[in-house]
Amino acid sequence: MMKSPALYRRFRTLLIANRGEIACRVIRTARAMGLRTVAVYSEADVGAQHVAEADEAVLLGPARARDSYLNIERIIQAAKQTGAEAVHPGYGFLSESAEFAQACADAGLVFVGPTPQMITAMGSKSGSKALMEKAGVPLVPGYHGAAQDEATLAAAADKIGFPVLVKASAGGGGRGMRVVREAGELAAAIVSAKREAKAAFGDDTLLIERYVDNPRHIEVQIVGDSHGNLVSLFERECTLQRRHQKVIEEAPSPTLDAAQRETVCAAARRAAGAVNYVGAGTIEFVSDGKDVFFIEMNTRLQVEHPVTERISGVDLVEWQLRVAFGEALPLKQDQLKLSGHAIEARVYAENPAKNFMPSVGKITTWRTPAEVDGLRIDAGYRGGDSVSPYYDAMLAKVIAWAPTRQAAIDRLDRGLNETDVRGVVTNIPFLSALVTHPEVRANAIDTGFIERNLAALTAAPSTLGDLEFAAAVAAILRGEDEAAKAEGPSPWRTAGWMPVGRRKRSFLFRRGQGHDHTDHTIELTYGGGSSALTIDGRELAFAWTAAGDGIDVALGDARSRIHAVVDGAELYVRTRSGRFELHLVDPFGGESEEAVGEDKIVAPLPGTVVALLAEVGAKLDKGAPILTLEVMKMEQTLRAPFAGTLTAVKCKVGDIVQEGAELAELEADAD
Ligand code: ADP
Ligand code: ADP
Ligand code: MG
Repeated sequence: MMKSPALYRRFRTLLIANRGEIACRVIRTARAMGLRTVAVYSEADVGAQHVAEADEAVLLGPARARDSYLNIERIIQAAKQTGAEAVHPGYGFLSESAEFAQACADAGLVFVGPTPQMITAMGSKSGSKALMEKAGVPLVPGYHGAAQDEATLAAAADKIGFPVLVKASAGGGGRGMRVVREAGELAAAIVSAKREAKAAFGDDTLLIERYVDNPRHIEVQIVGDSHGNLVSLFERECTLQRRHQKVIEEAPSPTLDAAQRETVCAAARRAAGAVNYVGAGTIEFVSDGKDVFFIEMNTRLQVEHPVTERISGVDLVEWQLRVAFGEALPLKQDQLKLSGHAIEARVYAENPAKNFMPSVGKITTWRTPAEVDGLRIDAGYRGGDSVSPYYDAMLAKVIAWAPTRQAAIDRLDRGLNETDVRGVVTNIPFLSALVTHPEVRANAIDTGFIERNLAALTAAPSTLGDLEFAAAVAAILRGEDEAAKAEGPSPWRTAGWMPVGRRKRSFLFRRGQGHDHTDHTIELTYGGGSSALTIDGRELAFAWTAAGDGIDVALGDARSRIHAVVDGAELYVRTRSGRFELHLVDPFGGESEEAVGEDKIVAPLPGTVVALLAEVGAKLDKGAPILTLEVMKMEQTLRAPFAGTLTAVKCKVGDIVQEGAELAELEADAD
């Protein structure tokens, strides 16, 4: 008889069953520990960074996650075929799938994570709450039973008392969650939460909780080994959220004092101890300011683990791998020390000004700051890579550490400011506005903070000053200069051939789109040894010199270092006042000054129509909902871009639509 191999044992080759930032993160530590790494990828990720960084890579199948990153059989086969002995699941995808952990065990592979039994016990929100109740961990009052009929759920909600939160038991990333303020709204919320949960997690079991108004999110990192040791590595606070999804995470929590820290960490150890937990995991709580209540356990590494690494000095992936080797944890609870403050921002390809619609396409520019002065960048993309509509739109994380929270915020803001990603729209300016908001600095926040302050956080910097226009002109001139140099010496550019005397050139810049744009004409006068810009009728002396990544611009008697990217006719300019986007109007390109807003409502990305919210003939205010699309597993509501009458609806519920497909038509109100 062959002895079945131990669940946790030493291995030399690790397959990472994930993509993007987390796959690159795991590869980095695995390589440092001398392991051979195997990446897996889909047809959409052939040229992706994680594939390039691994020692070997295996194509799983078509782009759709269920054909590739969620295809258990293919992943196990890839491990066999490359001689991998262990599998790290990352986060998302199969990281909390007991079925996957079991399939690994059955195939004789070490699963870098807890046992399938532990995932089953803690992976569902309903199941884990039942367990925690027994272990004496405080819970949010609620219903987490098996019966799922509407009458049972409605009776449970009444008993809990409104407002309640309807949640997908299998949920993650804030999906499948609805706040219900009164009984009348419950039925509709159940239908849409079930629909989203089914689509995203393949399981529409719901639970209902008392909705704690404006809470804080506090969570504790724990790690257990297979020898019965279990430690907590302090807490993180992830209160800055949008739609129940974390945006900024920090450690330690600026809200807890030492005694409260010990209370919540002890509760977390009790929670994980209840299943003799093995591996890295997180116990999540919400706090109403007085008490903390358990909400769920994540049986995997989390997106925000770097902030814990920065304050504890522990490499959590290294600990995961040591635990998977069957080793004991390197440190005991009293050997773990907390130092300084760390804060992380999630960089997404999405457009905050358009309701955070994901943005897809080719990344033309990718520039991140050096990882010095307390900065760390965890990224999964490079210049030239494509962001596809098939997966989560997170591109990278910018993490900053400093001795104090204020200093860490300053470093994070600098890190964000020095991160330039072009080709897709990112949330970087929004993140920067968020972390430097006075109430965030003062820790006067709750989970509703972003929603309440959305307008201020997504506002474009109000007016463009002279320096911004000068920066735009300088960027264009530098681009032309570089292009000319690349073409080599030309007789036309030698001094003798240059036409003499003063010459003029004018640039038409457009800011904003559709009905809301403004145009600015800037005149450049040059030749004869000096140049000047005429902005709003004022003439100012102007000069520029390339300075590394940036450009030094002299305007009037001031000098300033600016940064700019010219991407075709699109200009992205960063000055000391912030970031600005401008479109250079080609005078021969037929772009009239009165370019009006689109009257057609088109699909911004490929998706499925899941609800129609307005009827033909309806008079809609600007911002009124028209229809809901499911895009990248998230529901996105398309809204009226201006006030008008809905004259046509060209799709129906269930339609799968391509990017750019016309979905409806809106006729502007005559004004
Ligand atoms: P997910 O699996 O999507 O992370 P969670 O249960 O962790 O789901 O909840 C996500 C977020 O929703 C929490 O961080 C918190 O901000 C909010 N939330 C969850 N439960 C409650 C509750 N009962 N009351 C108020 N807010 C809650
Ligand atoms: P956390 O509590 O760490 O935010 P969640 O349970 O909220 O974890 O969900 C995990 C997060 O990871 C979600 O934001 C999800 O959209 C995202 N995600 C899942 N898979 C990937 C991936 N491969 N690359 C980037 N992000 C991912
Ligand atoms: Mg959670």
